[in-house]
Amino acid sequence: MRKLSSIVTLIATLLVVCIAILIISSHKPTDAVDKTYTSQNHTGMKTKAQPAGKQFQSEITLGAVGDILIHNSVYNDAKTETGYDFTPMLAPVKEYMISPDIMFANQETILGGTELGLSSYPMFNSPYEVGDALKDAGVDIVSMANNHTLDAGEQGILNATAYFDKIGIPYVGSYRSEEDQQKPRIITKDGISVGFVAYTYGTNGLIRPEGKDYLVQYLEQDKIINDIKNLKPQVDFVVVSLHFGLEYQRYANDVQKLLVEEVSKAGADIILGHHPHVLQPADWIEQDDGHRTFVIYSLGNFLSGQAELYQRIGAILHLNLSKTIDENNNKTVSLSDVKIMPTYNYRPNYQNYKVVPLIDADQYGLSDANELFQEMQEHMKSYTDDVTVVEKL
Ligand SMILES: [Zn+2]
Repeated sequence: MRKLSSIVTLIATLLVVCIAILIISSHKPTDAVDKTYTSQNHTGMKTKAQPAGKQFQSEITLGAVGDILIHNSVYNDAKTETGYDFTPMLAPVKEYMISPDIMFANQETILGGTELGLSSYPMFNSPYEVGDALKDAGVDIVSMANNHTLDAGEQGILNATAYFDKIGIPYVGSYRSEEDQQKPRIITKDGISVGFVAYTYGTNGLIRPEGKDYLVQYLEQDKIINDIKNLKPQVDFVVVSLHFGLEYQRYANDVQKLLVEEVSKAGADIILGHHPHVLQPADWIEQDDGHRTFVIYSLGNFLSGQAELYQRIGAILHLNLSKTIDENNNKTVSLSDVKIMPTYNYRPNYQNYKVVPLIDADQYGLSDANELFQEMQEHMKSYTDDVTVVEKL
């Protein structure tokens, strides 16, 4: 019996050993396969990781405000013992102007300085200190192409451009010389380059001195298209500033829409409209090849002495610009996250000028600020839902 039981034990032990060997041997190749797979996978990742060094992904914010029209009530309010100080006027919205990586403004009135004599409507000349306030509020580039560019003559433009050079704010659309005009206006932030061009419908009947077309650029479609096509290969995004439309019209007219279509076709990515002195809606223009252009037809007045309610409502625009370069060196750029914050020009009795968020205007004596905000929210989205109108940025 003992012999039999030890044989059974031996067979059982052998069986266990055999099974164990079988299990181990069947696992070994599995492990090996796993390892090979892992290693292949790893190698695969490595192959990907090398171009990953070339991969690039970046995103910046572009901001914009509309017309800065320095009427006499505005500069008189800014008067100090030694000069002018406009910084308190922008203080309530400064945080929203500082935050974008690139901030654009339409400097409608020429900064010819006090030496040319300050003046108001209809032929403006403004103090240099307006530029200091823009610099302080984070403005990175100004358009100088508008219907008031020639108000203080060639000297006004020479003074203004020299002052912008001195404080380090690039200007666009009006130039000191042909050579200056030829220099592309490109701002690069976090690896994303943005080029700017600017044009105006006219200059209130004032004409450019002969041979000095560079002093202000008009809305000449062929020139605009040419400029965009020249600039486009040098940058990731092209921003076109258009001083157009009819004053006080709250919606874009057909002339604006036709030009925007052509400018979009030529490759513009962003179109910043201004001149009507009131807000006009935003829109997206899509081309057959998939190219998408964002347009705001009018940014309204940002800071001015104009009186009517809608002339006292402007906006600060923010939008995201993103760029990706994949492992095959293909670049893709896109625009997203358009936000518009309506603003209000506070100034009881044409004094104590302040630009404030419209939603806060009830604290500045505008009793129906909330309803006006709702109205602007609908108004700015008249052409598209793909923009957000926000109380605060
Ligand atoms: Zn204008």
